[in-house]
Amino acid sequence: MKKVPYRINLTEEYIPKQWYNISADMIDKAPPLLIPNTRKPATIDDLSQVFCRELSRQELDNENAYIDIPEEIRDYYRTCRPAPLMRAYALEKALCTPAKIYYKFEGNNTSGSHKLNSAIPQAYYAKQEGLKNLTTETGAGQWGTALSMACAHFGIDLTVYMVKGSYNQKPQRRTVMQVFGANVIPSPSNKTNSGKAMLENLGKDTTGSLGCAITEAVEHAVSHENTRYVLGSVLNQVLLHQSIIGLESKAAMELYDEYPDIIIGCVGGGSSYGGLIAPFMGDKIKKTHNPYFIAVEPKSCPSLSRGKYSYDYCDVGQITPLAKMYTVGSDFIPSPDHAGGLRYHGMSPIISKLYDDKLIDEARAIEQTGIFDAAVEFARIEGILPAPESSHAIKVAMDEAVKCRETNEAKTILFVLTGTGYFDMSAYGAYMDKKMTDYIPTNEELKNSFEKLPEVE
Ligand SMILES: *Cc1c(COP(=O)(O)O)cnc(C)c1O
Repeated sequence: MKKVPYRINLTEEYIPKQWYNISADMIDKAPPLLIPNTRKPATIDDLSQVFCRELSRQELDNENAYIDIPEEIRDYYRTCRPAPLMRAYALEKALCTPAKIYYKFEGNNTSGSHKLNSAIPQAYYAKQEGLKNLTTETGAGQWGTALSMACAHFGIDLTVYMVKGSYNQKPQRRTVMQVFGANVIPSPSNKTNSGKAMLENLGKDTTGSLGCAITEAVEHAVSHENTRYVLGSVLNQVLLHQSIIGLESKAAMELYDEYPDIIIGCVGGGSSYGGLIAPFMGDKIKKTHNPYFIAVEPKSCPSLSRGKYSYDYCDVGQITPLAKMYTVGSDFIPSPDHAGGLRYHGMSPIISKLYDDKLIDEARAIEQTGIFDAAVEFARIEGILPAPESSHAIKVAMDEAVKCRETNEAKTILFVLTGTGYFDMSAYGAYMDKKMTDYIPTNEELKNSFEKLPEVE
């Protein structure tokens, strides 16, 4: 057998020609999105008022397992894909583990994360439809950056509502988006009626949340001509686009006769993890393989591990469709001490359903300081400065590799390293200066938030 290289670099021909739609192969489908006032399942026409039409179609597609990737999208993918699949020999050695550790490195483009994989098709379909403007929200900033790049490429104007806490913590992110031509507005803002109401309710000093920023971006889209709203995670269409992470990983591993025993990823809205696991989950559903799936989230925003599986709003203003998902409640605002992303109150309906059906085996929540311990150790050993979000997966991959040392099992571990952490220096700084704290919401706080979940029968 050929020795696996440190870095498996596939050639361009390996860029998938089709995305893989896990929904089509799920025996029990994720429950549908519901229109808030009628509580009826959302149709393509309903969704098309907010989203692009082709993306609305993809959102509701439970039938086609494979969807063609248009050539113009593959052309942009060529600038940074296939992303390398790394074999973490140095980490294995440092941990003295017999485990084989692989990671798909998605930080290899200017946006610094996997978000570009969905930004490109979303901007492309908007252009195909003749739209001139898009709006979106961004938290930590990677999505806004990726979408700014894609909109610049396809010649579309973009307005980004950026969670105010991040806008102030990460001014460089804001500037990168401006370089790519985006109009960046801190949220809540007084540019929209919903923003004004939130400033009124939450006070002028509020740091905002993704849920607030989504409401503003949607209001902006529906109240302007030729404008639609796009979202960087959570939705089925985004998991679909991200399936290229899993397809490429699987193709690279097959070249060396490898198949993962344990598949790990961080979950914010669940798009990168949903994309990584898609083809492997397909195998599990078809019973050809049985990998063990672990989704990792922050203890400060624990939607899978402590949330409820319930219909909830996707935003604070309650104007978006209801989604059945693991949620800590749409007006849950994570502590400002929480540094990284992964702050969304809900979770992808597909990931939620797979977890509820125990096809995803485990959700593990980790406190922030533990994440940074792993991030710094990994940086020193593997020479990549990981995003705090990605470090959730690193931490659990390292923990699993240490377990393998103890049981002397040579398991194959695969995780997705979703991005780099160059814009997270204030968080790294707090950690290095030992000023980082761990915030874990109390049962009381979660209970208060659960009481406001909408009732849906
Ligand atoms: C957005 C982001 C995440 C979390 O989003 P998912 O939709 O759960 O993938 C994780 N890591 C990085 C680097 C991100 O930018």
